[in-house]
Amino acid sequence: MKHSDDFEVIVIGGGHAGTEAAAASARVGARTLLVSHSKETIGVMSCNPAIGGVGKGTLVKEIDALGGVMGKAIDRAGIHYKMLNASKGPAVWGPRAQADRGLYRDAIQDILFNYKNLSIKAGEVTDIVIEAGLICGVELSDGTIISCKKVVLTTGTFLNGKIHFGHETEGAGRIGEKPSIALAKRLYDLKLNMGRLKTGTPPRIEKDSINYELCEVQKGDDIPSPFSYMNKEVSVPQISCYITRTSRETKDIISKNLKLSAIYGGNISGAGPRYCPSIEDKISRFADKESHQIFLEPEGLGSNLVYPNGISTSLPRNVQDEFIKTIAGLENAVIAEYGYAVEYDYVDPRELQSTLELKSIKGLYLAGQINGTTGYEEAGGQGLIAGANAALSLDDRSFTLSRKISYIGVMIDDLTALGASEPYRMFTSRAENRLTIRQDNADRRLSSLGYNVGLVENERAEAVGGKMAEIDLWAKYFNESSIAPTSLKKLSIDVKQDGRRRTIPDLLAHKVIDWSLAETLDGSIKSISTEVRQALVVDTLYRAFESRHDYERSLYNDNQNNIKLPATLDYKKINGLSSELAEKLSFSRPENIEQMKRIQGITPSAIASVMIAMRKFKAA
Ligand code: FAD
Repeated sequence: MKHSDDFEVIVIGGGHAGTEAAAASARVGARTLLVSHSKETIGVMSCNPAIGGVGKGTLVKEIDALGGVMGKAIDRAGIHYKMLNASKGPAVWGPRAQADRGLYRDAIQDILFNYKNLSIKAGEVTDIVIEAGLICGVELSDGTIISCKKVVLTTGTFLNGKIHFGHETEGAGRIGEKPSIALAKRLYDLKLNMGRLKTGTPPRIEKDSINYELCEVQKGDDIPSPFSYMNKEVSVPQISCYITRTSRETKDIISKNLKLSAIYGGNISGAGPRYCPSIEDKISRFADKESHQIFLEPEGLGSNLVYPNGISTSLPRNVQDEFIKTIAGLENAVIAEYGYAVEYDYVDPRELQSTLELKSIKGLYLAGQINGTTGYEEAGGQGLIAGANAALSLDDRSFTLSRKISYIGVMIDDLTALGASEPYRMFTSRAENRLTIRQDNADRRLSSLGYNVGLVENERAEAVGGKMAEIDLWAKYFNESSIAPTSLKKLSIDVKQDGRRRTIPDLLAHKVIDWSLAETLDGSIKSISTEVRQALVVDTLYRAFESRHDYERSLYNDNQNNIKLPATLDYKKINGLSSELAEKLSFSRPENIEQMKRIQGITPSAIASVMIAMRKFKAA
């Protein structure tokens, strides 16, 4: 048996959870080793080349606020930035960037290969060495044992991974990469509660074979807004994406061949991602819908591959060839890589504490897809927490985030309390404090907490601290110079004559005035930087909503949890309930609010909507 140098923390897996875990552990100061199948695949995006989105984008900002790598990497690789939901309130804005797949991987590798306290090794881990209940090291497939005190396991879709093209299957963690069989067996031997989940990916199309004249162009934002607080601009060239739709013919071909799909042919037992369904799923579940939208997203600046977002599939290759040609602009499309589904083992996250350490095995931490989540951002957020805690636990310290102050906290609380019967994805609706925990204030919420445990570097802490001090000063200044409604009327500014004094940020937040009028009212405003201006206005806007928020929260925590829910209640008619949740509730028909709370995905605002509907129901 060969022994190798010892480390304090070993992270297994160089995906999105593993890279954040390794970097966080190293930042905190632990001698860290990242072991992954191959150095070349570290930071590879398994599926869509994009980072962020609604809810997910806030996770990336939180990872960045805690000194993580994802935000910095996407800013070196983003080729199409878009603030999703920009027409809605800032609480649900979702920063997203299409990535050049190669540039993203290179950026992650460039950052990690030069990271202080971090070593990287290629190899397959086949065993975790545990003696007298304590983690002692890991064993590689060549028999090498590397000793350590803590292990973070981030194996993604690789545990007993099996990929499916129709009824054809092969063992793989993702296409072309072998699964982790020995390690999966080890986890079963440790008597962890495990299950099976699945996800899928669409075919990739050759760019030259697409007729873009039949598609709608989708431009990115004029000025890309960087993910990382430490970046002031994005210098990667920006390109457009395109939109097309499936047709009646696509639907017919897929419906006719459903039994050949791995998912519908009964080959896959695991549950798939509800919010990122395959095209087979969409056509079966929304049978009345004639057509589904597809985003044609370039895989990179120099790449001839296009990722058709919206048609992930596990149909046989010949059916993929057939249906793709029924889509506008894709009549002559050439598939370069076929879509497939992947099925893999995961560990019930209720086995974990909020530090992401297993309750039953001290020193073993899990993060990412292995915990039942889906998505790079969810994986990254967990990786950061698991890696930081593995390192901090060496000195009996820990770092957890509550759901009140962060999306990372919401996700970990949901996972560890409720488990994941289907792949868990982040949404703004999962966060009861979403008006106060936004993508625009992640740095203000989290950077100082990260600094206290060594996750955040001095430069960032100073920059965020300076910004916060400036915001406080200006907020105080505006409060002290608030204007009476009568004075506003004299200036021809139309507000309700209710006696309430308004601040300039208040007038801006409610679009009563714009910045040029604000500058006329008070010339000193000209010296406020754009980021401080935005913060002042958004903070003011949401202060007004906090009372509704408190009301929702009081309903959620209300002691009347045993309120009975009539078996005939029509959830589809309840205002404020998403169709997703209405469908879930109509199916499971909880007997009372307490039971309803335990259904996965139920949010405080959904409970509030049902309780308000019940009050009306009783009053009628
Ligand atoms: P991964 O990114 O999978 O990384 C795991 C890493 O662990 C790999 O580097 C692997 O080499 C390494 N590893 C595994 N076992 C060992 C071992 N024994 N020894 C050493 N190294 C090991 N997400 C979405 O949000 N939407 C989607 O539509 C979607 N579709 C997907 C489709 C496919 C086909 C796949 C494969 C994934 C898809 N995902 C999707 C999931 C997304 O890729 C993951 O959520 C994300 O990559 C998870 O990150 P992770 O770090 O947990 O694991």
